[in-house]
Amino acid sequence: MALQPSRTVEELRELRELTGNEDGAQRVAWTETWEQARAWLRGKLEGLPVEHEVDEAGNQWFTLRGASDKALLIGGHMDSVPNGGWLDGCLNVLAGVEVLRRIAEEGEPPVTVRLVDWADEEGARFGRSLFGSSACSGTMDDQEEIRNRTDANGVRWEDALREHGVDLDRAKESGRQLGHAAAYLELHIEQGPVLESMGLPLGAVIGTFGVERHLITWKGQAAHAGSTPMDQRRDALAGAAKLALEIRPIAARAGGGAVCTSGGVVTKPGIVTSVVETAEQLLDQRHMDADTLARMLAEAKEASERFAAEENVEVSWDRIWHIQPILFHDELVTMADESIREVAGQSHRLPSGPLHDAAEVARAGVPTVMLFVQSLRGLSHTKLEDTKPEHLELAVQALDRLASMALAWVAAE
Ligand SMILES: [Zn+2]
Repeated sequence: MALQPSRTVEELRELRELTGNEDGAQRVAWTETWEQARAWLRGKLEGLPVEHEVDEAGNQWFTLRGASDKALLIGGHMDSVPNGGWLDGCLNVLAGVEVLRRIAEEGEPPVTVRLVDWADEEGARFGRSLFGSSACSGTMDDQEEIRNRTDANGVRWEDALREHGVDLDRAKESGRQLGHAAAYLELHIEQGPVLESMGLPLGAVIGTFGVERHLITWKGQAAHAGSTPMDQRRDALAGAAKLALEIRPIAARAGGGAVCTSGGVVTKPGIVTSVVETAEQLLDQRHMDADTLARMLAEAKEASERFAAEENVEVSWDRIWHIQPILFHDELVTMADESIREVAGQSHRLPSGPLHDAAEVARAGVPTVMLFVQSLRGLSHTKLEDTKPEHLELAVQALDRLASMALAWVAAE
């Protein structure tokens, strides 16, 4: 019995039946339905010679011992957003299950192979993503903030964690899991429109974008909409509006897949009879190259000062959040390309806009790569999320090929 990619598609449908409803997937982390999905996953691995363990951060590990302790990791996440899609996260895990079955069938592998189901990738209930993988990678440095976060019903995150067997103060001890990790592979749906627009089923991911997120506050003067002449206004919204358009040429000049988004503007007083006094504008900028990202930010700041002078308003910037670009491992990216070409003929290299657990593993210094499979219409985090079954099967095959190459690579090192 060799690899059966169609079994993965059947199992994904089975999981959808079990943990979804007419609104989509409901496997929100730290809920009953999520635990049910995780128990179902354990059932799928019964009968294989794998050891099961849940670590201090709630990550679920399945270990197939090999001749060496050096480990090849394959990962994904069983949790979903509320009303989510049927593939985000669980495709990665279930494709990993199929690859693990194939490897186990061939006897003891040369190195240890481990499947990890990361806890709470989405952060849907408490508003902070990558819980399990950031605890494991050691980058989690906001325990106090996590402790006191609450969900929509006022339940504290720390208490919800405890209910699911996780002691927040010990979560980072899960870092020991990466002790022998020699490579990490993750398959994911693209969640964007690039591969579909190119007519390609699969792509090799070169890394995850660096992100700069800022709150820009424009301050002018509220004034009567009827009595204030046009040339005597200090209109805060005018500055925000100019910047919202200026980020397009900034992204175009940067090139290389640069994206800039002004995702919201809140104006005060926000009434039809007044010039806007304050405008709070959100800006998100992303690029694969740290220097280019810094230049995009500097250009946006310069432009904002120019517009503030033109409009006779004030502007100030506050950084909300940022992360450096994370590049995946060169040799593994090459292997990912090769595995895709073997199963689908043509490959394409692309960056990932969203962050993934793989980024955390890469930050911990483990050689990492991801495969993307085409998303129809680029949709995700909705029940409309979909990928053609034949592309899902190709994705399982590509992950399997990649796992074989990576296994040989780790063994030879
Ligand atoms: Zn995901």
